[in-house]
Amino acid sequence: MAHRQASSSESSVSTSPAPVTSTSATHPAPAGSSAQPQPRPAAAPQRPPATPASPGRPVTPRGTSRPAPAGAQQAQGPSLADIISEQEAIFIRRQPESARLADSAKSALAGGVTSSWQIARPQPVWLSHGRGSKLYDVDGNEYVDLHGGYGVSLAGHAHPAIVEAVQRQVASGTHFAQPTRDALAVARQLAERFELPLWRFANSGTEATMDAVHLMRAITGRDLIIKVEGCYHGHHDSVQVSVYPEPEEMGPAERPASAPSSTGIPRALTDLTLIVGFNDLAAVDRVLTENKGQVAGMILEPIMMNAGIIPPEPGYLAGLKELLHRHGALLAFDEVKTGLTAGPKGAVGVTGVVPDIICLAKAIGGGVSVAAIGGTTDVMRHVAEGEYEMVGTFNGNPLAMAATKAMLYEVATPEAYKRIDQLRQRAVAATEASIAANGLSARVVSVGAKGCIVFTSEPVNDFRGFLAINGDYSQAHWLFQHNGGVFLPPWGKAEQWLISVQHDAADIDRFNGNVARFAASIAGPGKVLDSAG
Ligand code: PLP
Repeated sequence: MAHRQASSSESSVSTSPAPVTSTSATHPAPAGSSAQPQPRPAAAPQRPPATPASPGRPVTPRGTSRPAPAGAQQAQGPSLADIISEQEAIFIRRQPESARLADSAKSALAGGVTSSWQIARPQPVWLSHGRGSKLYDVDGNEYVDLHGGYGVSLAGHAHPAIVEAVQRQVASGTHFAQPTRDALAVARQLAERFELPLWRFANSGTEATMDAVHLMRAITGRDLIIKVEGCYHGHHDSVQVSVYPEPEEMGPAERPASAPSSTGIPRALTDLTLIVGFNDLAAVDRVLTENKGQVAGMILEPIMMNAGIIPPEPGYLAGLKELLHRHGALLAFDEVKTGLTAGPKGAVGVTGVVPDIICLAKAIGGGVSVAAIGGTTDVMRHVAEGEYEMVGTFNGNPLAMAATKAMLYEVATPEAYKRIDQLRQRAVAATEASIAANGLSARVVSVGAKGCIVFTSEPVNDFRGFLAINGDYSQAHWLFQHNGGVFLPPWGKAEQWLISVQHDAADIDRFNGNVARFAASIAGPGKVLDSAG
């Protein structure tokens, strides 16, 4: 396993170049090339698409993939499409009650779910409860939970410290709209971990990044912001730009277009968000120079985590900070996913770069809805002095603060991170062995509690490189894991596993066993893919 320094300091984003066969994946794929993906897995065409689609634009364009190459169809044994169909049939057979509820829910919940990204193929999974490292569906199936509720459940489920904190607070009042001692304790702990002195709270990652963008504009008096192609920062207007752009709307790699990522957003707002590729410092330099004095700042995930995991190249983040400051602009890290999961100090700890603003959400609340926005004294002065009013009825909600305090002081401890790292290494080593044993063009990328299999042996440095990867392999892997009792996030190509503080070696071994079976099963089509490329 090769370790790759994300920057000068305590980096631990690890990628594993698979010691295996050649790959057909192009990197990066030129826009509009034949390697560009279709919006969702090509297998099982007899089934309706996972999500409703408006013309030319899937509502939930997260499962980007391209069809299995024609050569795969001629492989000895089942093709990748056959394997996916077979696994989907098993999936559906195991979950009749989920199917019944999904159908019945359509008369009361729009689309039969509570968020559009819960519509995953072959059908949404309805859950009954979670305990420790496990989840249970309404059909009584048990799963090792490596989905983690899209990166939230670092504490696992019903962690005693979270249960105790929440129960105590429920009995003492759940909402005051006034500060509590817990809020102060949380802010002090976040300041220590993330090296920014001043904090405020909100309720979701979307709110946190919205406040960050407002703040950068308020401080500089400028309207333009820079965003990275392929980064997701939530569903507010300024950042719903080029999240999963269609190939025909992406524009050239050296000058990516600002493509709306949702309907309902005025073009005038989309145009205020300028797009650059991840790891492309020169592009940021160009945008700042071409728009002199007009750019308020840049928001990005310091380690990209909505395109598998893409680490920053050495010097990239520090270079951004220097460039932006030279142009009077600000740098905001969206650590909604990386905060607490990449390590005890998030990506700041991994990369050694401290931005002007940090956005946190997901894991910090131990499963309760909360977000935090941290800033330098200079930045937060604008909040403290009322120049930018950072507001919200539920901001600093006592229930959320109690859970977050327990998370920070009792759950996300140094010992917990040590344990998680051992489990991460156990998963990575076994996965690499399965990849090698079956000659697959794949690699493992992991950082802290997060990790994923990337189905190319090439390093992926940006969203266009990610797009070139065949998402069918991730879908097949997701199905194998699911049917084998491990719940990974749907939209497998884009997402990562999350190891919680309550997982143990047996949980990871269940994951590893599924990887081994999956790898052996796709070895045929995988090898055809290699030779077809
Ligand atoms: N930022 C990142 C990096 C995310 O992954 C997400 C959600 O997945 C968000 C922001 C938005 O967070 P939320 O869904 O809590 O609004």
